[in-house]
Amino acid sequence: MTEPANGHTVQGVPVAELADRYGTPLYLYDGAIIRATYRRLRDLLDPSVEIYYSLKANPNISVCALLHSLGAGAEVSSLAELVTARRAGVPARDIIFLGPGKSAAELAACLEHDIGAIVCESLDEVATVEAMAAALPDTGSGSRYVRVVLRVNPAFVTKGSRLAMGGKPRQFGIDQELVAEAGPTLKALRHVRVVGLHAYMGTRILDAADIVHNTRGVLTAAAELAAALDLPLDLVDVGGGFGVPYFDKESDLDVETVAEGFNAAVARFRVDHPQTRVITELGRYLIGWAGTYVVRARQVKASRGEWFVVADGGTNHHMAAVGIGSFVKRNFPIRSLTRPAEPPVRQYTVTGPLCTPNDVIGKQVALPEVRPGDLIGVERSGAYGPSASPVLFLSHGHPAEVLVLDGVAHLVRRADTVDDLLRPQRLVDPAVPVATPAPAASPIP
Ligand SMILES: *Cc1c(COP(=O)(O)O)cnc(C)c1O
Repeated sequence: MTEPANGHTVQGVPVAELADRYGTPLYLYDGAIIRATYRRLRDLLDPSVEIYYSLKANPNISVCALLHSLGAGAEVSSLAELVTARRAGVPARDIIFLGPGKSAAELAACLEHDIGAIVCESLDEVATVEAMAAALPDTGSGSRYVRVVLRVNPAFVTKGSRLAMGGKPRQFGIDQELVAEAGPTLKALRHVRVVGLHAYMGTRILDAADIVHNTRGVLTAAAELAAALDLPLDLVDVGGGFGVPYFDKESDLDVETVAEGFNAAVARFRVDHPQTRVITELGRYLIGWAGTYVVRARQVKASRGEWFVVADGGTNHHMAAVGIGSFVKRNFPIRSLTRPAEPPVRQYTVTGPLCTPNDVIGKQVALPEVRPGDLIGVERSGAYGPSASPVLFLSHGHPAEVLVLDGVAHLVRRADTVDDLLRPQRLVDPAVPVATPAPAASPIP
C-alpha cells in the first residue's frame, strides 16, 4: 500500500506511526494542548481562584497526573476516581468528592483519606457523614472534624447550559430555601464542619456572559446563605461548565471575557470575604481540545448515491458524536489524518462497526478521497469519550489511549483484550444439573 508521506503529526510524531504501533481505534491526547489550555486559563484567572479538574470528563490516570502537575486539584465522583486521583499524585487535601447517592464505601474512603471536602448533596447525607465521623477513632486533641461542603440547588435561574440547573426541582444538591433553614441542624453537628458551599450550573456553556452571570449568582447566593446561617465561609465552589464548540455555527468560548467578568465577581465577593477560597471545577474545557479519536477506514462504499466510510471504531467509543439532543445530526470536526493537505472531494458518512444504523460518527462530512486503511480523526474529543460511551456494546471494549508529552508518545491505556472482557464472566454449564460451588475463577476458553 502506498502511504502518503505527509500525514498528520502530533508534536512531530506521525499519527500513522502511532496507529501502527498501538492499533486503532485509538484516543490520542496532545499533552502540549492540555498544558497550553490550562496555562492560558491560569494566566487569565485571578491567581487566588483554584482550578480543580473534574475526572468525570476523562478519568485516565496520566491525564489526571498531567493536570495535577500543572497545579489542578481533583474533583471526583466515585471511589475509582478518588483512587485514580490519589495514585496520580494528587494530595488528599486537594481532592473534593461530589455526586448524588454516594455509597457507604465511598464516604468511608473520603474519611480515611481525609480529603479536602465531601460535597454533600442532601442534609441526610450530612447526617450520615456526621455519624461516620463520630465513629472515627478520636485523635485525643478533639480537633478532628470532617470538612463538608453543601451543594446548593440555587434559586436563581442558570443561563446558557444545555443541562440547565438552578431554580428547578433536581436530584442534585439541597434547595437553597432548605439550606437557608438548616442553621440549627448544622449548628448541632459535632464531628462535621460545614466549610463552604458549592453550586454547579450546567455544562458546555459557550457564552462568556452566561458563565459570568452564573459565577456572580453562585457567589451572591453563597454570601447570603453564609450570613443567614452564620457560617464561616472557608470555601465556595462556583462550578464552571466552560464549553468547547463541536458543531457548525458554534463559536469558541471567549475565555478572556469570561475571566474579566469572573475576576470582577470574585473581587466584589472578596470585599466581604477576603479569606474565602474560591474554586472552579472544570472537565471538558481542560481536556476536550486536546483529544482526537483516531479510526481506520475498513471499507469505503457507495449505497444508493451516498458514500460511506465504514471504520473500525464508532459511537461505541464516542457516543457524543451521535449528536443527541438535536433534531438534525450535527458533526464533530472530522478530518483525514492520512491526507490532511488534500482538498475535499466528496461527502462521506463515517460509520463504525456496530450493527445499528445509529452508529454514525459523522454524517455527510466533506473529506479528501478516503481509501481503505486511511486514518480519520474526530477532533476536540478529549472529554466524555470512551468513559461516556457504550464501550461494551458488541463487546468491542475500551480503545487504547495515547498521550504525547514533549514529543514522546506514551500508551496510557491499552485496548481491552478479549480476555479482559470475558474474565469477569462465569460460565455455567447447562449440562450439569447439580448445584456446585462456584470455583474462584472459571477460565473461559
Ligand atoms: C460534570 C460536572 C463537572 C464537569 O463539567 P464540565 O462541563 O465537563 O466542565 C463539574 N461539576 C459537576 C458537579 C459536574 O456534574
